[in-house]
Parts: sequence; C-alpha cells; structure tokens
Amino acid sequence: MSTVSLSLNEIFDLAKKTLLANGCDEENANILSDTLMRAERDGSHSHGLFRLPAYVAALKSKKVNGKARPEVKKISPSIIKVLGNNALAPMVLKVGLPELIKLAKETGVAVLAITNSHHMAALWPETEAIAEEGLVGFACTSYMPLVAPAGAKKALFGTNPISFAWPRPGKTPVVYDMATSSMAMGDVMVAARDGKKVPLGTGINKDGKDTTDPKEIVKGSGGVLLPFAGYKGSAIAMMVELLAGALVGETFSYETAEKDNKDGGPPSGGEFILAISPEKITSSNWIKHSDEFFNKMKSMDGVRLPGERRHKNRLNLGPRNINSDLVKKIRNLSE
Ligand code: NDP
Repeated sequence: MSTVSLSLNEIFDLAKKTLLANGCDEENANILSDTLMRAERDGSHSHGLFRLPAYVAALKSKKVNGKARPEVKKISPSIIKVLGNNALAPMVLKVGLPELIKLAKETGVAVLAITNSHHMAALWPETEAIAEEGLVGFACTSYMPLVAPAGAKKALFGTNPISFAWPRPGKTPVVYDMATSSMAMGDVMVAARDGKKVPLGTGINKDGKDTTDPKEIVKGSGGVLLPFAGYKGSAIAMMVELLAGALVGETFSYETAEKDNKDGGPPSGGEFILAISPEKITSSNWIKHSDEFFNKMKSMDGVRLPGERRHKNRLNLGPRNINSDLVKKIRNLSE
C-alpha cells in the first residue's frame, strides 16, 4: 500500500478544506476536522480520513446539514435531549456533552438522548470526554442493518458500537470502544481495499456460507457481518437497538435504512449516552480501589488495558502515513 506522510495539522487542514468546499460552515468544519484528525492521531484508522468521502456524499446530497445548530432541551433534572437537526455527530456532541457532564455532577447520574444526528465516527471521543471530567461514561449508537442476529442469515442490526470509559483522575481514563459485530464494517472495507483476508466468523456471504473474503461481506455484496461471540453479542447488539432507538425516540437500524437516501453517507439516527458520578455514589476510595484492580489486571502476562494502544499512539505527535489513493480522492473532492 503506498502512503503519503501528513502531519496532524495537515490532516486537520485537508479535512477542513474539503468540508468547507462541500457545504460546511466554519464551526461544523472545525469540529468535524478535529474529530477526524484525532482518529488518525490515535490510530482509529477506520474512522479518520477514510470516512471523509462519505461525509462529503451526505453533505452534497443535503442529507447532512453542514451549517446545522443542534438544540439542547432539558427534560428533567437528569435527562437532556439534543435534537441534532441533521448535524454530524461531533457537532451534536459539542453542545450536548457539557450539559450532560454538568447534570451528572449535580445529580450523580444523567442521560443524554440524541436524535436526528449523523454518526459514523468512533465513540471513544464522547466517553473519554466524560471520563476526563471524573465521571463514568457509556455510549452506544445503532446504524443501518449490516449484522445478522444470532441464527439468522440476513442483516437486522447495525454494527452498533458501545463504548465505556472509567475515569482515573490524574491519569488517562480506561476506555473501550467496540462494534458489537465481529468486526467494524470500516475495518472490513479497509481489508477489502487492501486485499487482506478477515478471520472466519467475521461474516457470511450471499449464500449464507462462512467466508474470509471481506469483499463478500461488505455493504452491497449480499453478504452480512455476524455479531461478536454468537448469541451473546447478538443480545448486546439488540440492547443497542433499543437504547439508541426506542428509548431516545429514534429509529431502529432497519427503519433508518428505509428512510435513508442511500448516498453512502452516515444516516440520521440516535445515540444514547450515560454519565455516572462515582464521587456521588461512593467514597473517594473508588480511585485507589479501581487503580489496584487495573494494576492487578496489568500484572497478568499478556494483558493490556483497552484504550492503551490509542493512548500510546497519541503520544507520537509526528506525521502519519495515510493511504495515497485516499488522499488523492479527498483532494479531488475540494477541487
Ligand atoms: P477493536 O476490535 O479494534 O477494539 C475494541 C476495543 O478493544 C478497543 O477499545 C481496543 O482498545 C480494545 N482492545 C483491542 N485489542 C485489545 C487487547 N488485546 N487487549 C485489551 N483491549 C483490546 O474495535 P472495533 O473494530 O470493534 O471498532 C472500531 C471502531 O469502530 C470503534 O471506535 C467504534 O466506535 C467504531 N464504530 C462506529 C460505528 C458508527 O456507526 N458510528 C459503527 C461501528 C463501529 P485500543 O483502541 O486501545 O486498541
């Protein structure tokens, strides 16, 4: 794979120029470019610049409003709703997260229910931002049907990621962020692009047979992804459909697909975010106690904490190697 070396500033500038040329205003372009740059910085490759052409497709078709201003509504002392007004998720989170954090600090627990937002990014930016404020964070969102429920051969669930972050005051939070499919569709697409195989159990082809060829699993191939860990992952994916759909007042993945204009960009949907204050629930011993637990985990051979790979990548402020075809494609989008 041939690559181009781009500094973090160049990644940000490339994204911003492209977004401004395709209908974003300054604020939306800044916030989204920052999210894309941070994904590249942390090595979340399937959710960095790789997603920019899809964002542009959605901006061009006007499915996404690049000048949107999401609205925050306080529903109760511990529930807030953000109407996305067709903004991309990072813009919605920018206005919603500070309110969620404020409420959780006041009441001990708070929910952020997001509707009409377009999510195609990683979820760690939201849970990590919550944990950096000393709160436990949880987030999930559904997508379009790409994953077969356990036992089925046709898709019903989205890849439905969940993320959880545990605060460690004075240290980087412990964060996991994962699709509930055996593999994120972005990674299957990257594997298909790079001519690599995927592990058996990732998905089935259009005939319902197990396959290691990502081209037989990607969107439009007729194949589908499988949930992680069989019926157990299937149950978690179902939970995400309910939390980010019926609970927040948004669509299930199959309904999202029915109303989507199929431009390839992120569809409009919901997100469920929870913030909990350990300080309000327990004594301040929780910091020492959980640190002991993490230390015990890390002392075991072969164990690392989730999020550590990203956080290590983050310390490197040097340039990143980005796929040359992708950079060429993005540069063409702003001409
Ligand atoms: P991975 O399988 O790469 O990683 C899942 C989690 O496990 C990460 O937190 C990772 O931490 C951790 N992890 C990986 N290996 C180990 C290990 N050996 N020991 C301990 N922890 C480990 O993620 P996915 O491919 O499932 O998902 C990728 C991204 O796709 C996520 O950010 C997700 O939010 C996003 N996504 C977004 C969707 C959307 O619609 N918005 C849909 C589906 C997915 P680390 O990062 O440090 O490696």
